[in-house]
Amino acid sequence: MKVLLVEPQKSRRYHTQYPPLGLLKLAAYHKKRKDKVKFVRGFDDNGFYPDKIYITSLFTYAWYPVHEAIRYYSKKYKKAEIVVGGIYATLCEEHLKKTFKDRIRIHKGICEEVENILPDYSLVPEWNASIIFASRGCIRNCPFCSVKILEPEFKPKKTIKHLIHPGHKKIILWDNNVLASPYWEDIFQELQESKLEIDFNQGIDARLINLKVVEHLKRLKISIIRLAYDIQGIKKYLEHAISLLKEAGFNGRQILVYCLYNNPFEKDTPETFLSRIQDLIDWGVVSYPMRYEPLEPRQKNTYVSPYWTQEQLEMVAKARRVLGYGGAFPPYEGLRKKFLNAKTFEQAFELNPPCK
Ligand code: SF4
Repeated sequence: MKVLLVEPQKSRRYHTQYPPLGLLKLAAYHKKRKDKVKFVRGFDDNGFYPDKIYITSLFTYAWYPVHEAIRYYSKKYKKAEIVVGGIYATLCEEHLKKTFKDRIRIHKGICEEVENILPDYSLVPEWNASIIFASRGCIRNCPFCSVKILEPEFKPKKTIKHLIHPGHKKIILWDNNVLASPYWEDIFQELQESKLEIDFNQGIDARLINLKVVEHLKRLKISIIRLAYDIQGIKKYLEHAISLLKEAGFNGRQILVYCLYNNPFEKDTPETFLSRIQDLIDWGVVSYPMRYEPLEPRQKNTYVSPYWTQEQLEMVAKARRVLGYGGAFPPYEGLRKKFLNAKTFEQAFELNPPCK
């Protein structure tokens, strides 16, 4: 069988710094079965006539380039079976079906057959990190999160050694909640033995951080600890986790905390958002605001929750660009003063007139 793996055309509407992990796993799977495999990015035309085409997708707001890819390849290879998977395909099945009806097959969620296969990284020779899920799903059920649809069951792996590529310099974990795994200590042990740089890319759950976890983290080659402060209710856990991490020697600049805003589920307002940002800057860590995006397909940055206004959202975006660094708010002295002295959201996020 001839198999074509398609990553939609990269653009401002379809942007990711990571390789398409699902497609790389499918490549390894089909190669093992002696199928002929070709991986392409965007639109490709070089005489490879596939029997089966897999097209991946990213976030729901990046749906249009996925449609373009489906249109192009379904027209070009009329007889090939087309399977569309990934985040958008899983969350927006009806949206896809409305346009493409029976021409495509939609694969929702993860693909169990390839879950434990080492991805075929030879297809992305410029890439030098092993991307691994040591667990799927999450034990929490946050109403604003898509994980419960994408990975409904919490499934931990006992080992991940077989998913580390021997030539790589780094391991990136994409777990939603690695510390919820009953095998997290075994996994951390394997990470330590790898001697590679480690990135818990999706963050770790502050509610599960204790002294033992911090001791394990200290043994890893880790340059940044990512946490989240999406809801006010976790304040005491987060404060405790940050103090443990700092006591263990992690610098505040190494602790980055994602801070969701514009979130309608938690009735998050500009004031509650400011209060979370003030907590973080007061604790001396870096805050990284993340604008809530709904799960349905719509253009990025167009959703405005009933508790925010367009102007207020723009103030945050501008402050991130002008006052922040790489979209984050590090605990610089100037920013500390500005945020902690502010009595209102507007005072905190307005841009001061330039000095004469
Ligand atoms: S803890 Fe994180 S991954 Fe888990 S449901 Fe909540 S937001 Fe999603």
